[in-house]
Amino acid sequence: MKQWLEEKLLQLNVTDEMDEENGFTRLSYTEEEKQAHEAFINVAKELNLDVTQDEAGNLWARWKGVQESAPAIAIGSHLDTVSAGGGYDGAAGVLTGLAAVKVLKDKGFQPEKNIDIVCFASEESARFGVSTVGSKATAGMIDKEELGRVVDADGITIKEAVESYGLSWNSIDQAEKSTEDIESFLELHIEQGTQIEDNKAEIGIVRGVACPVRLQVTVKGMANHTGTTPMNNRADAFVAAAPLVTYVEEQARELNEVQSTPIVATVSTVQLSPNVMNVIPGEVQLGIDIRSVDDELKRSLADQIRNYCETMNQSSRLDVHVHTLVDNDSVYLDSSIQEKLQDITETAGYRAHSMDSGAGHDVMNMAVRWPSGLIFIPCREGISHHPKEHASIEDLNKGTNVLAAYIESTAGEQG
Ligand SMILES: [Zn+2]
Repeated sequence: MKQWLEEKLLQLNVTDEMDEENGFTRLSYTEEEKQAHEAFINVAKELNLDVTQDEAGNLWARWKGVQESAPAIAIGSHLDTVSAGGGYDGAAGVLTGLAAVKVLKDKGFQPEKNIDIVCFASEESARFGVSTVGSKATAGMIDKEELGRVVDADGITIKEAVESYGLSWNSIDQAEKSTEDIESFLELHIEQGTQIEDNKAEIGIVRGVACPVRLQVTVKGMANHTGTTPMNNRADAFVAAAPLVTYVEEQARELNEVQSTPIVATVSTVQLSPNVMNVIPGEVQLGIDIRSVDDELKRSLADQIRNYCETMNQSSRLDVHVHTLVDNDSVYLDSSIQEKLQDITETAGYRAHSMDSGAGHDVMNMAVRWPSGLIFIPCREGISHHPKEHASIEDLNKGTNVLAAYIESTAGEQG
């Protein structure tokens, strides 16, 4: 099995060498993503699965069960990457899904229900700033008008990209599946962190996916000459905003000391205007990303930050505005699937660690409509979205075994 995994990992990454200095670049709806999808089709066909491409470019490789009209057990992830990303983010989930089918076919298992191995299109936001397009389409969450206008760095709209991929933008929403089409969805992903390793475990079983609150803070002061404006007569927007950066970090740290649910907050973007060596910064825009699966906790930190900005506003020389860009509820995964995964993992002799996901994945859209689960396998040093991203064949094999056992216990052996 390990040899099969090694071989197919290369095949799905359209390469003969995983150790690529420049990593892998398969942006959304590009020729590179399509090549990886073609590799998926080839592997699925070798396993005698029936592959269909839906209107969003997602691939569904079906192992037909005896009850052909019964809802499917769906398992999958994605094959697109960020620029110069790794060959495991997404690929690990697609590969182990196919591998689980191989394990079960090799041992003569015959499913009662349909099994779908899914390869979602366009999961990463690297090209268009919008993530999980394929799974959003599956879950009926596409707003064609709004999304169609989104452009990449070259000014190509997502609509144009989808059409040059060979799909029709007009029918992208027809990729939607109904509640009756799928019984449950399970995704395997690399952890992109080190919690599994830190807890001396082998498989992470995810309880929820933290969705962010994102704030944009604009501080307006007064741009002026750096050489002629005395220190006591300035309204430097950058100086005014600087303590906010430390405040966000400190408040998040303090909350983690008193709360059991983790929270993270980051001032992740800064724009200075005019950003010129001899001009006092007249305006600063900071972007703040706050995440926790405890929605109340993340919203109360956002309120604290708003209040802090209010106190900054009390200086007559400054004008501070806080704009909420995003405030989504976290997604909780199905508890009975978590229990099942816990049992399966223990039975297989692997140590499981129950945890939350700070990053978004296709499963967060699927979970809105279908009972869904997410498992993590370790990745070396937690490095991801980088050419050094790596998951071992041993860990991919363990993940495969968990997925195979999950299919076995949910898809029902033909009796
Ligand atoms: Zn991913």
